[in-house]
Amino acid sequence: MNHQASMLETLRQHRPLLLACEAIGWLHMTGKAHPEFLRMHGGVGTRYEPKDWHKELKPEWETQLRWAVEFSSALKWPNSLLEFLTKFDEGKSEDNLVGLLQAGHAMASGIEKNIPRATSKYLQQDATHMWLSSPFGHPVRNLLIDPPRLLATHGWKELIEQVGRLLEKLKELGSIPCTDAEHWWRWREEAIGANGWLRQAFLSTVAETRVPNNDVTLWDQSYVAAALFKSAVAGAVLVGSSFEWRNKSKQQTRWRVLTIGFGARHYEARAVKIGDWVGAQRDIESFFKGVRRLIEVDLAIGSLVYRDDEMLAFTFPGQREDNQGSLDDNAAEQLRKSISEQVDQLAQKFEFETPPLCRLSPSTRSFVPMIQELRQVRDVLAIPTHRSWEIESDDQPNHPEARHVCPVCQVRLNKLPRSAQTDNARKSYLCSVCRKRRRGRLDAWLSGDGDTIWISEVADKNDRVALLSLRFDIDPWLEGQHVDSLRARSIADWRRFNPVLEEYWKRAPTQRRCIDNPLDPERPFVSVVDCVKTKLASYDSEDLVLANLQEGYRRESDWETFFRKIVEDRADAPQFANLDDTERANWLAHQFFRKLPSPGRVYRFWRASEGFFDELFEQFREIAASHPNPWRRRRLRLIPDTQTAQEWEDRETYAGRWNEGPFEVLYRADHDHNDFLTIGNLARCLPATETAMVLQGQEVELKGDDGQVKKLKIQSAREPERLGVYAPVIALERSPRRFRVLVPLDRVTPCIEAAIAKWREEFARVWDRMPLRIGVVAFQRLTPFQAVIEAARNLEDALDRDGCETWRVLERRTREEVTALSLERKDGRSETVLLPVSLPDGRQDVFYPYARVEDRALRFPRDFRHPNGQVYRHMADLRPGDGIKVEASRITGVFLDTTSRRFEVPVVRPLADFEHMRDTWDLLVRNSPSLTALRSAWSEIEERERNWRDIKGAWLARGKDEWLSLARAILSDRLQIRGAALEALVDAAGAGILAWALEWHLTWLKEGI
Ligand SMILES: [Zn+2]
Repeated sequence: MNHQASMLETLRQHRPLLLACEAIGWLHMTGKAHPEFLRMHGGVGTRYEPKDWHKELKPEWETQLRWAVEFSSALKWPNSLLEFLTKFDEGKSEDNLVGLLQAGHAMASGIEKNIPRATSKYLQQDATHMWLSSPFGHPVRNLLIDPPRLLATHGWKELIEQVGRLLEKLKELGSIPCTDAEHWWRWREEAIGANGWLRQAFLSTVAETRVPNNDVTLWDQSYVAAALFKSAVAGAVLVGSSFEWRNKSKQQTRWRVLTIGFGARHYEARAVKIGDWVGAQRDIESFFKGVRRLIEVDLAIGSLVYRDDEMLAFTFPGQREDNQGSLDDNAAEQLRKSISEQVDQLAQKFEFETPPLCRLSPSTRSFVPMIQELRQVRDVLAIPTHRSWEIESDDQPNHPEARHVCPVCQVRLNKLPRSAQTDNARKSYLCSVCRKRRRGRLDAWLSGDGDTIWISEVADKNDRVALLSLRFDIDPWLEGQHVDSLRARSIADWRRFNPVLEEYWKRAPTQRRCIDNPLDPERPFVSVVDCVKTKLASYDSEDLVLANLQEGYRRESDWETFFRKIVEDRADAPQFANLDDTERANWLAHQFFRKLPSPGRVYRFWRASEGFFDELFEQFREIAASHPNPWRRRRLRLIPDTQTAQEWEDRETYAGRWNEGPFEVLYRADHDHNDFLTIGNLARCLPATETAMVLQGQEVELKGDDGQVKKLKIQSAREPERLGVYAPVIALERSPRRFRVLVPLDRVTPCIEAAIAKWREEFARVWDRMPLRIGVVAFQRLTPFQAVIEAARNLEDALDRDGCETWRVLERRTREEVTALSLERKDGRSETVLLPVSLPDGRQDVFYPYARVEDRALRFPRDFRHPNGQVYRHMADLRPGDGIKVEASRITGVFLDTTSRRFEVPVVRPLADFEHMRDTWDLLVRNSPSLTALRSAWSEIEERERNWRDIKGAWLARGKDEWLSLARAILSDRLQIRGAALEALVDAAGAGILAWALEWHLTWLKEGI
């Protein structure tokens, strides 16, 4: 056996141990899941010891895990296994496995860089308001007033019982020689898979009760700590006897990030029908699941910490910072190669046309390099065949003259279709692999997986569909750049609540040395920088200001080391040696007060965006399914008359017409039944009052894919036992980066409104840094899918084309905890933004709503400056005239009445204009005497507009003013609109909004008034 293979073998042999360690990591803070933990911190006077929770376990912790010690006695175990639960957060690094858990825990919580409890008491929440917050500052739940299941009566008892069973099963699996990873996979998924009970329980409560760190759930922190612990132990297992257990493994341990990428875009671009793309996606999803199983369970070397539609990132053992006994670069590369081979084998099972990618980052103590890694992976994946990759084909060309290259994959030859008669039908036939992909999705649907896969069921009464693409620009959050705008505490508040600084670490208050807080309350930022600067001459670990600012300061002995630890989590971290004292002081002051992009939080940014789209999808389902005619969401099962039986192909679709509406069915010949399922929008053929009986005995002409027409005589029609109801939506893609979904075009307006409302509520505090970008492709049902996808991609590119914009503050009013900002946008028009500036308990929110201002001067106590010079200002402090940087939310759309329309440059508008457009339409509906009058008025206004523009479309001199006064006259004469309504419409006409409102509602949606 070569060295590479033996490393995989070593990992597999240690699978029970590695998964046991991961479980220890999940559970090490279980005590925090008790409501008493929250009450104790909420100041209700209870005494609760979160580290004693294991006393309620029966059989006890030690007994349940003893097998693991016997399993791998070569590792350094602590004297008592309880030390995992009691020493994980101690300052002193343990010389055994506990030290590795300490390392993972510290990394996950960022505690080494944390603030002393003594000077941050004022950040505590109390029992009346114990909130779990989103990572973007939106209050999610008041945990003690409105407790989740975990914190309600019996929640704790249930949890402890479940933990008991988890350990029981773990012991059982660990104690029997078991080579099958499947049992382990099931054990793990049940606890922490997408719907795992432990994940769900820990997600519902906080790991930290102080604001603003109440944004990290117990799950985020436990899971990331467990992932890091597991990888660190895997490193020890791989290195064996030369592994360094001593010398501060808590501080020295580092990790790598293993990234597995797969170029999904390639398959999207080649899909001929939507089924090709969704089918390929299903295979890619299964492949990713296989990869996860390989890394997380089979080899048990790490755990997933990021994923999107094209890549998975896992924790991986690293080399120690001091380079002593740990997994060195050479061995890590060997291991990567053998993992890559295993991943390739997995990909070959799915007969993919492109190779996967397997990369390893350098060793690091931060998650920030992970994002750079992801970016590089994405670049490589943009070239589908980025390395040689063999495509196996079992279709031996026995009739070469009759075979064609498959229109989807464009690499394999298709099989000779039985019934296709025309040359076109032969050419459009797929190869066996692509056919299997299309079919795989059909099989899944038939077995009851999801709503619908049929675009004919999504199409609205006008036979139209909308592809909605919604996106966040999440990278600057994952990379830490926008996290610079968030404060862990305000300097002014810290000064205010700590007028006296003392040696809080000494037990007896009388023996503590103390001084007045030297910061100037009027100019806190400048004075903190100045103060730090004066102290850089020598390192005084007793310094009261620094010791009170930063928990770890007392434990260090020189500036260079301290600086490295405090500033190290930045991707662009400057070297201490390359800076002067002013720059050093700036960096330190920034890092002391900012929110950290800790792994737990970075993981949460990703999950919050994903959760947003998941919840929105549920809203879309409801919106799309709401229709006065229940046939909109119903299917029928049709039993054919056996007397006139025809040759139908199993699982083929047939289309015809019934009652003036399109009528599509799927034939099923498998198992006992020979029947048809309807797969179209039945509301177009059946009135709401009609029953299925009406179809009985009827005859319908149907045409198959092969072009042949047959007659179906319906013996009976009834509700199918399964698949009887659906919501007319198809999710094409759901990832934190992009959400693409098909909805009926006539339901797209409320879908967009729901998305905007949800974004405004949940991202209000970061509206300028977490833009929502919406693209709408409206199309006829039969439009080629490739054209639709290409149009969507063009819109997405157009939405991102303009970068950051500068907007100017016109007015700021703060009333009842809400600040209203009137802003002049880049296009010269104004927009009002509302944002909450208080926490739910009434305190000011000094953590989230900070704008990047043009101003270089610090003017208010809450102002702060990034070391690169950017000044941030609290949004409630903004003054008229202030210019602020805004990542603008935008919307654009295209109606593919012809497929060539996808090449046109789309008009990108500010997102708020969508609401303006809707208001404008409402105004027209309320005021126009008739649709005919409206249409004729509008065509005249449009006609006049052309006269005032030159051939290139630019306004002639004074043209716009002339045209607008004409528009005013026409609206007033023809539609009899007066006063404020008239002025609003003329203004909308000038902004292009009136034209948009008419196009959207009359042309796209074919609405009446
Ligand atoms: Zn193919």
